[in-house]
Amino acid sequence: MHQNDKFPSLYIVDHPLVLDCLTRLRDVNCDKRMFRACLHDISLLMTYEISSDLDIKDVNMTTPLTEMTGKRLARPPVIIPILRAALGMTSGVEALIPSAATGHIGVYRDEETKKPVEYLVKLPEVDDRDIYMVDPMLATGNSAVYAMSILEKHGCDPKRVKFMGLIAAPEGVETFSNAYPDTKLYFAALDSHLNEKAYIVPGLGDAGDRLFGTT
Ligand code: URA
Repeated sequence: MHQNDKFPSLYIVDHPLVLDCLTRLRDVNCDKRMFRACLHDISLLMTYEISSDLDIKDVNMTTPLTEMTGKRLARPPVIIPILRAALGMTSGVEALIPSAATGHIGVYRDEETKKPVEYLVKLPEVDDRDIYMVDPMLATGNSAVYAMSILEKHGCDPKRVKFMGLIAAPEGVETFSNAYPDTKLYFAALDSHLNEKAYIVPGLGDAGDRLFGTT
């Protein structure tokens, strides 16, 4: 994992298995079934990378042979997928951290005002737990910034939020890190730019459409 030179809050998760999975996801010939499987796998691999600083605690326990002191997570993180494409990443995170609670944030862009509008916010108790906010594509950054403002309203400290995704555009990283400089971003790639329709280039297309088979 490497800190990006231009955007110090951005970390690129460049593990060989992550990069291999990302290339399969980008491929125009990757069908829905393979897309879902790779999205699960890459999310699991990235979760392993970003969770190495989770606090642990001692617990007394019994093996088939004896008693011993083991280690468990002190506080499992909270997972917050931003609907809808991030739903395809949740299973990978949950596979590694089954004790994590999952909240959901649904935001759409009003076509007239061009402003984000929330249509679903269901969050678990956060207390002092780490939050893994998940969205595969960081394009303009507007919905991620809006999702962060919802989390802040619910008492989440931006310093405790890790934003995990697959592909970021420089424009989105700029917008997000200006608004939330204390939140670290973890992505598998920083791509070239956004096109006129705000798609990431080279990107992978519309992640939600590819995941759910919509157009
Ligand atoms: N959302 C996507 O799914 N893809 C993009 O390229 C940009 C935003």
